[in-house]
Amino acid sequence: MKLTNDQIERYKGQINLKKINIQGQIKLKKQNVLIIGAGGVGSPVALFLARAGITSFGIVDYDKVSKSNLHRQVLFDQKDIGKKKVLVTKKKILLIDKNIKIKTYDTKVNRVNLKSIIKDYDYIIDGTDNFTSKLNINDACSFQKKKLFIGSVSQFDAHIFFFDFSKKGPCLRCFMPRAPQHSLSCQDDGILGTVTGIVGTIISNELIKDTVGLYSNLKNETFIINLEKLLFRKVKIKNSANCKNHD
Ligand SMILES: [Zn+2]
Repeated sequence: MKLTNDQIERYKGQINLKKINIQGQIKLKKQNVLIIGAGGVGSPVALFLARAGITSFGIVDYDKVSKSNLHRQVLFDQKDIGKKKVLVTKKKILLIDKNIKIKTYDTKVNRVNLKSIIKDYDYIIDGTDNFTSKLNINDACSFQKKKLFIGSVSQFDAHIFFFDFSKKGPCLRCFMPRAPQHSLSCQDDGILGTVTGIVGTIISNELIKDTVGLYSNLKNETFIINLEKLLFRKVKIKNSANCKNHD
């Protein structure tokens, strides 16, 4: 696979980075990235990765754009209110580069449909806002040995996870065996758009690094962020003996 003249010009700033160069850019071009949830976290991921040279995306979302989404879901503007998020996301990505391939899934993920949805993708980004979906996505990715990034946000706090299931290691269920009682609804608990923006931006950064062969400092760890006090820390996740994903 080669880069076109358009791509060489488009990504010049990135190719000039010695640690990316033309080989890294070709690797980015080869990846298929699935974004589950075109919301606060999914928006910056789609926008940054489309600009960084990922040329094939899947977008999963069952919802429509509402006015209350606009403060954090930077893919959308007020003309998009009432429209299907997957269709608007596709349109916005094509405005960046009309040659990007995008497959849309206008559906809510569950244990059954995830099996076929994630099948053709190298990286899965979980930008959903509920623990049940997060655990279902984790289990499906673990079973199919995918690479999974998870963004989880509430108020000023965030957790980011990265698991490469092609290698032995822990999963989200080792850290959180079942869905907690409380919800993870941005709308109910309150959230700043900058918090979801930072989470999506870090996920995009780590995906680019991992693709081009740079070490991702996030692997098998959770990056815990509090943006009220500006506190950042990383915690290693250990394999749980009780987790059925590692039998
Ligand atoms: Zn596990």
